[in-house]
Amino acid sequence: MAGGRVDLDGNVINPITICMIGAGGFIGSHLCEKLMSETPHKVLAVDVYNDKIKHLLEPASLPWAGRIQFYRINIKNDSRLEGLIRMADLVINLAAICTPADYNTRPLDTIYSNFIDALPVVKYCSENGKRLIHFSTCEVYGKTIGSFLPTDSPLRKDPSFYVLKEDESPCIFGSIEKQRWSYACAKQLIERLIYAEGAENGLQFTIVRPFNWIGPRMDFIPGIDGPSEGVPRVLACFSNVRLK
Ligand code: NAD
Repeated sequence: MAGGRVDLDGNVINPITICMIGAGGFIGSHLCEKLMSETPHKVLAVDVYNDKIKHLLEPASLPWAGRIQFYRINIKNDSRLEGLIRMADLVINLAAICTPADYNTRPLDTIYSNFIDALPVVKYCSENGKRLIHFSTCEVYGKTIGSFLPTDSPLRKDPSFYVLKEDESPCIFGSIEKQRWSYACAKQLIERLIYAEGAENGLQFTIVRPFNWIGPRMDFIPGIDGPSEGVPRVLACFSNVRLK
């Protein structure tokens, strides 16, 4: 484990401190597990909830005790955030509203969460010279050109109309009144801001665009391990239907 890890050039990776925002969520909880069990790194875990990482925080006899600390912070309004970013060598931002059912019903919260609330994280990283790994989404690729062709068009079978190229394909979103696109649009704008911070102010960054990752702790199954009235992400909905 730990000490022997090397980078792509064969150099030993020294332990670093990572400020992980959204550490208590689905992806964050798995990332924390991996970092604790397979690396010597330290994690400052920021979230409003810690249920999914409780098993990593207690008891004090855990082998990684002291390497992970939880901070119950809402990044919307907590002045401790900049201090934690300053203490870190690397910042990973996973915090977001990212449940499709919310995009239509809570478009304001979706836009605020994915764009406005991420602004201070980007600013503090840029001002303090910290590398940022920001979690975006595959939805920033938008719709394919092929989806606008008539259903019987032979061009639909031509890959140039449906294969998206990371840095080349134009980005096509739905109209403003289709609020479902509020998430993708907010994520794209924060990506553009991060890119501009890199270009103008030298921010070091990596953008991650997951394509619907699944696994344990992804979400709740309504009425079984979560509230009956909530609408979780699609795979948890499938599981709920199958269980019924
Ligand atoms: P998640 O909802 O399980 O985790 C997000 C975490 O952020 C939650 O624990 C939540 O409490 C926290 N959070 C939200 N707002 C906060 C705030 N204001 N202050 C502090 N904490 C806050 O989501 P996830 O599936 O782990 O996704 C993480 C990131 O990856 C998100 O940015 C999401 O958009 C992106 N993403 C995930 C997938 C996927 O397949 N899971 C796909 C595409 C993009």
